[in-house]
Amino acid sequence: YRAKSRKLGYAVFEQEMNRRTLERLQLASDLRHAVENQELELHYQPQVNLSAGQVVGAEALLRWRHPQLGMVSPAQFIPLAEETGLIVPLGEWVLRQACRQAVRWTAASRATLRIAVNVSALQFERPDFVSIVAACLHDSGLEPEQLELELTESVVMQDIQESSARMTALRALGVRLAVDDFGTGHSSLSYLQRLPLNVLKIDRSFVQQVSGVESALGVVKAIVALAQHLGLGTVAEGIETKEEWRLLRELGCVDGQGFFFGRPAEAGKGWPVTATE
Ligand code: C2E
Ligand code: MG
Ligand code: MG
Ligand code: MG
Repeated sequence: YRAKSRKLGYAVFEQEMNRRTLERLQLASDLRHAVENQELELHYQPQVNLSAGQVVGAEALLRWRHPQLGMVSPAQFIPLAEETGLIVPLGEWVLRQACRQAVRWTAASRATLRIAVNVSALQFERPDFVSIVAACLHDSGLEPEQLELELTESVVMQDIQESSARMTALRALGVRLAVDDFGTGHSSLSYLQRLPLNVLKIDRSFVQQVSGVESALGVVKAIVALAQHLGLGTVAEGIETKEEWRLLRELGCVDGQGFFFGRPAEAGKGWPVTATE
């Protein structure tokens, strides 16, 4: 009886695996057509100077409006796009759209907002990445200083020689470089000091515990101090309450973003905004 039920159990397991594999294959094939079907859009989340409460920029966040499934989260489809290599054309589309939008904002408000764009490992490692960034800047007319590329620790630290050279080339274009989700990966501090970076983005996991967990407060303090010593800016991710805003400001964090200041939204809605206590 036991052997039988185990066999049955395995059959069910196998069926479930097959179903999931099929779902992923289907989603990957849908994603392949998402750009041409205009199912992708960018949402923008404000970045705020914590002492002035003023919007200084926005992070572009990719959204997929699937015709059957509705909104698919980037947490779901970005890994899929990375596995299939689709992230390369997708990422270029994001970069182009984001640059254009920033130019529109600059023209409309005469404020020079910063635009932050997430970059995947696969994009960053491509030999033509720097020239693609240059082309997006040229075609949109965006000032290079307004563009901030967000790289993760793993991307930056993978092949330090290679990434350092690429980062130097990007900085030569005039763009700014940020390390995303800082504190969750494994950064080598000696490399961090030598890389041509501009900003550390403090990961949401620390920010969300900053007012309750002593150790999280310690980590945030340490990151802010590290950034100050290295001459880098700081952006705190995931500020959800006034208390977190106040704390991070007092700790000396320069900028922040989070639901308290604004959720990611379409370009037209509520831009630009100013945070008030
Ligand atoms: P990320 O770059 O760290 O982006 C911040 C994420 O935190 C966003 O999730 C944002 O909506 C969310 N967030 C911001 N403030 C708060 C808050 O106060 N509370 C909470 N709970 N969440 C907050 P989202 O938009 O779902 O994106 C998830 C991740 O997907 C991003 O993390 C990024 O790694 C990736 N991603 C999004 N767009 C792109 C893209 O265009 N290219 C690439 N390569 N990755 C992207
Ligand atoms: Mg990011
Ligand atoms: Mg982040
Ligand atoms: Mg994060």
